[in-house]
Amino acid sequence: MEHNNQIKILPEYIANQIAAGEVVQRPESVVKELVENSLDAGATSIGIVVKGSGKTLIHVLDNGKGMSREDLELAPLRHSTSKILTQEDLEKIQTYGFRGEALASISAVASVEIRTKRAQDEHGWSLKSEPNQPFQISPVNCDNGTQVFVRNLFFNVPARKKFLKSDITEYRYITETVTRFAVIHYDKRLVYYDSDNLVYDLHPSSQEERIKNVFGENIASEVVKVDFSTDLVSIKGFIGKPAAARPTGNYQHLFVNQRPVVSKNLNYAIFAPFEHQLEKNYKPFYVINIEIDPRKVDINIHPQKHEVKFDDEKLIFSALHRAVTEVLAKYNFTSVHKVDKSEKSPFSRFEVSESSKENILVNRSTGEVIDRSSAFKQSSNWHAPIDRSFGTTGQSSRSAFDLLFDVAPKSDFQPPKDRIEISDDAQFLQIHNKYILMQSPSGVFIIDQHNAHERILYEKALRAMNSDFSNMQVLLFPISSAIEPSQIAIAREIDQELRKLGFDFKLYPDGKIEIMGVPLDISESEAISSFSEILSEYVKLLQIKHSTKRDSLAASYACRSAVKTGQKLSPEEMLNLARNLMQCNMPYVCPHGRPVVLEISLRELDKSFKRV
Ligand code: ADP
Ligand code: MG
Repeated sequence: MEHNNQIKILPEYIANQIAAGEVVQRPESVVKELVENSLDAGATSIGIVVKGSGKTLIHVLDNGKGMSREDLELAPLRHSTSKILTQEDLEKIQTYGFRGEALASISAVASVEIRTKRAQDEHGWSLKSEPNQPFQISPVNCDNGTQVFVRNLFFNVPARKKFLKSDITEYRYITETVTRFAVIHYDKRLVYYDSDNLVYDLHPSSQEERIKNVFGENIASEVVKVDFSTDLVSIKGFIGKPAAARPTGNYQHLFVNQRPVVSKNLNYAIFAPFEHQLEKNYKPFYVINIEIDPRKVDINIHPQKHEVKFDDEKLIFSALHRAVTEVLAKYNFTSVHKVDKSEKSPFSRFEVSESSKENILVNRSTGEVIDRSSAFKQSSNWHAPIDRSFGTTGQSSRSAFDLLFDVAPKSDFQPPKDRIEISDDAQFLQIHNKYILMQSPSGVFIIDQHNAHERILYEKALRAMNSDFSNMQVLLFPISSAIEPSQIAIAREIDQELRKLGFDFKLYPDGKIEIMGVPLDISESEAISSFSEILSEYVKLLQIKHSTKRDSLAASYACRSAVKTGQKLSPEEMLNLARNLMQCNMPYVCPHGRPVVLEISLRELDKSFKRV
């Protein structure tokens, strides 16, 4: 028998579950929606408690205006909102919420309880809901404001649950979101618990003070104020000097009317003025809010409202670009890379142990150590960092510029025959505070100072972690500071490795860390910043390549502790660097796989000058 109607209206339960997927993708989305509701309700104090990275419990409580019994009954229904009524309202939204979807979506995929009380009511009301079941409403005694408990998220949608990432990752997402609220709502009290661990306990303060409490003194001491207006927008916040730049993405906070937004284009407006002041892959720190007439921006183009559309994005872009450029120009940050003679030289204490002379095979694209066998293997997957055949392959038609800058290695892996001997009276020339030129037996070497030091420290770190030899210096005075909660979680995960590397530390439940010892190449004054930057870099490395904890940690340590591009080096420092480099197992490639030394042969130079 043939049916004429194949199309059916989905049962409400299923429709809600599908719709929920757009708003509630992970525990972090729930936290975000609930905190936004609290802010929309005018709360000045907000508490957040998560258990099991939000999978077991998310509890958000506020001292906002609360709901009447009648409103409470409507709140968890789809498209129920108190925030807009008309098309006109939709065009000038001042609140975070307006779709009336969050509570409905959350209720479709979790057990939810809402307790709420308005100041004028004698007692409050509780609403309990289970997916696909009628609500239960009953009177309760509770404080003014609203509390929402979300339990067992996705318990009825196993496919969703399976899709979630590891606990530590989900926890990080939540914490990043809480952090974003914290830096923009600095005038509010915010308390955040991860199970029994107090992560944030923030009191109303200035934004600068809040940045300090959230990101730590090291970042806070390197930020400057941005305050710039045009007819169209007002741009306010803080940006970090180049010295506060980090090789990670967690320090960029852009808001439009206090709503966190993701925009490659606008981020670029902020990055661009920093060009040439930052190392490759380093990103500036910033917390910037763009205030604009809500009628000139559309926030209704993305289910989670991460994206916005401006009437005229070019104008916003140029205003932002100018705001940042002016601040940078005012402070003339280019001078921050000057060597401070009072600081310890990054090389002074470094020695390569003579005992570890076996060779290491390195993957050229990742810099990972693959094999520590005593002989280099001949394999087409492994490439020499230096193209030793350079100059013999008939490239005489290339210009000198090409020769200097386009010397990408191409040959198969071929270890250099000899280590370069560095005599005591070797001459070095540092150019652009970036490269070191040195005469080689058959031409000239160009050493990338940062890559070279990275390689040295990387091998040293690996040695420290693979031996019982202590790489630690005890600090005279232990230093304690707040560190980011997500970093505490990582520190717990690689506790053993960090200790072998040379850190001695204690983590406290209130989000503080005390550092008692640091690896030999880290100066006392940098103990906290190094620790947290190494962890950030570590997470990034783990995400892009699948190497061991030790290898990733060694590479992160090296990257963080190595002398920076832009730092002036003394002749002794250059000598030390070159010597130490040549004692490395694999001097010619940095842990990230970039070349460390390039050689231009005399022959090639002669050819270029038409001498041969
Ligand atoms: P939206 O925020 O888009 O309006 P939600 O589903 O998030 O939709 O919330 C529905 C309604 O429930 C809100 O419009 C508001 O009236 C009420 N509500 C939700 N959370 C709170 C809260 N913490 N305090 C007071 N009212 C709330
Ligand atoms: Mg909402």
